[in-house]
Amino acid sequence: MKAILFDLDNTLYGADRALFNLIDVRINHYMHHVIGINKDHVDTLRQRYWQHYGVTLQGLIREHDADPEDYLNYVHDIDVPSRLSENKPLRNMLKNLPQRKFVFTNGSLCHAHRVLNCLKIEDCFEDIFDIRVSDYIPKPHRSPYDAVLTATGLTGEECVMVEDCIENLHTASALGMKTILVSDQEIHHDVDAVVRCAEEVGGVIQDWMA
Ligand SMILES: [Mg+2]
Repeated sequence: MKAILFDLDNTLYGADRALFNLIDVRINHYMHHVIGINKDHVDTLRQRYWQHYGVTLQGLIREHDADPEDYLNYVHDIDVPSRLSENKPLRNMLKNLPQRKFVFTNGSLCHAHRVLNCLKIEDCFEDIFDIRVSDYIPKPHRSPYDAVLTATGLTGEECVMVEDCIENLHTASALGMKTILVSDQEIHHDVDAVVRCAEEVGGVIQDWMA
């Protein structure tokens, strides 16, 4: 175990902070006001893009010729400090882990910087990989994982991945990574460990290293 890859949203902070709801509203706005999709069709389209492409952005690029950079700036333009603040236990846990640590997110770099800054954990990570790492192709597709491994010089077997989305852990597992799911449901059969919040990851890693 040389490195730990952390997802960002709903992983490094809890889903109860409802930060993603703010992005959700911005995505709907973008589809209606910028792309010009009828309001009544937005929800159905988003669902289809999610199932088909993994993120709304891929659907908008392929089917509406959307500008990905414009989209990323627009949807992540939210008031992060209104929902997140310093998390000292998380910071201490990260600082005490000897492994290399990275953020690997389907969001944007700018959003990741804001989130990490509010939690005061930005200096705990060696690097951040965002949706741009593999030309806007998101997790759980394999190509962004391959891009992260190439960029870091790591193999799948050397990594642990921490995520709230089980599909994203399936790809990680197929690449030989150990998997930790952040979830409030305790029983999951196809991951290596389940934690209720990111602060508990340190304990799991220590157990594995012992
Ligand atoms: Mg997430």
